[in-house]
Amino acid sequence: MASFSVTVFCGSSPGVDPAYAAAAASLGRGIGAAGMALVFGGGNVGLMGITAGAALAAGAHVTGIIPDFLRQREVEFPGLSELIVTDSMHTRKRRMFALGDAFVVMPGGLGTLDETIEILTWKQLGQHTKPIILVDILGWAQPFVAMVEQAIDRGFARETVCDLFEVQPSVEAALARLEELCAVAG
Ligand code: AMP
Repeated sequence: MASFSVTVFCGSSPGVDPAYAAAAASLGRGIGAAGMALVFGGGNVGLMGITAGAALAAGAHVTGIIPDFLRQREVEFPGLSELIVTDSMHTRKRRMFALGDAFVVMPGGLGTLDETIEILTWKQLGQHTKPIILVDILGWAQPFVAMVEQAIDRGFARETVCDLFEVQPSVEAALARLEELCAVAG
């Protein structure tokens, strides 16, 4: 099994522009090509399924983590290297956090935002120091960054919260960053 694992948070929908699916596929392929492992939400839906399928095809070790009650709705991805079934959303998120050496956030909906905010707040509270990389496909990350900046401007967050995450402009840039992190981790 690869030593460096990337937990990817992304939509259970494909989004309205085919660029999202294309980006998810290149992320999955790139993770596999770099010899990294993928950890994701386990579903064969939307960008999640596309990322996992591309990573598996590229030879990555892919771990899906899905709560029992979601196995029907999100339809677990067949043929994963490993499938972990949890008893709740909270346990799923804990496992996805624990297994990742770094986090990549791709476009998604409320679930993706929830997962992103949670690992950011855990980092803010000093519970971990793992890298968090938002990939800004078609400007998807900009409203998120603006919301954080507004919280700072209005005195609800410290300026240093911007240091908790990084925004990369493309999948290629995010993969280059992951390779750097992987090399440092040895
Ligand atoms: P979404 O971004 O809403 O398409 O969801 C992406 C992933 O987050 C899916 O695997 C969802 O099951 C998961 N998710 C959705 N809602 C929540 C939630 N409230 N807490 C944690 N995960 C969620």
